[in-house]
Amino acid sequence: MAEDIKKVALVTGGSRGIGKACALELARCGLDVVINYAGNVDAANATVEELKALGSNACAMQFDVSDADKVEENIAKIVEKYGRIDVLVNNAGITRDGLFIRMNKENWLDVINTNLNSAYYVTNPVSKIMIKQRSGSIINMASVVGLYGNAGQANYSAAKAGIIGFTKSLAKELASRNIRVNAVAPGFIQTDMTKGLAVDKIIEHIPLKTLGTPEDVANVVRFLALEANYVTAQVLGVDGGLVV
Ligand code: NAP
Repeated sequence: MAEDIKKVALVTGGSRGIGKACALELARCGLDVVINYAGNVDAANATVEELKALGSNACAMQFDVSDADKVEENIAKIVEKYGRIDVLVNNAGITRDGLFIRMNKENWLDVINTNLNSAYYVTNPVSKIMIKQRSGSIINMASVVGLYGNAGQANYSAAKAGIIGFTKSLAKELASRNIRVNAVAPGFIQTDMTKGLAVDKIIEHIPLKTLGTPEDVANVVRFLALEANYVTAQVLGVDGGLVV
């Protein structure tokens, strides 16, 4: 790719939390950033303003990543507007926690559709664009629970374990096209998703004795997206040592 072409990133769930921090970090590195969100327009608009202040030709696109048709429609719009996608961060995610024997089908399917099937819906059209470019970097947001499991999160753990398998297989398929595919496995990160958890109890199990910040994850995403040229098919933990 010629030096003067501006790289473009798509961050799903980029309006808040980890996705927002990733979007800002990629904008700081000079990328034009498209953030996707589900419904929180105010958060999305505020994030776009912050991205623009960093010099990024940023925009927000509302679509549900678990809706295959909407995803396809919106990826086409992104390509029409920006002409390329260099970095994809599959980050959008939800939790619907509960003990498995009481987990209803809706809570199972919502999490699998939003956290796992979305990766197929978004990555399928984006990878075709990257193949044409013969370059790209895909980062999938997994979780430590995808590696080690967690009581009360059978749906979420299954989705995140699926993301890890998806990452490794896709990395093998796309390597010959100069496309790298990696995953990040955060532990406990301070976002809306972890609000209300018993932090004191959790910290007892974290060797670094603190929760992570969205920026801690974003730094690793930036590394995988833009710097780690010889790294693919990896799952990088960002968990304060939680799983050692
Ligand atoms: P968060 O603060 O709750 O933010 C979630 C983001 O995803 C928001 O931008 C939200 O959009 C978007 N979103 C949710 N459902 C969507 C859908 N169907 N379509 C499009 N966008 C959707 O979450 P977070 O803590 O930053 O988590 C981000 C990712 O990291 C998730 O994949 C999560 O599983 C993973 N993770 C988080 C932790 C943690 O401790 N926080 C640990 C491990 C892994 P709106 O603003 O419009 O709602």
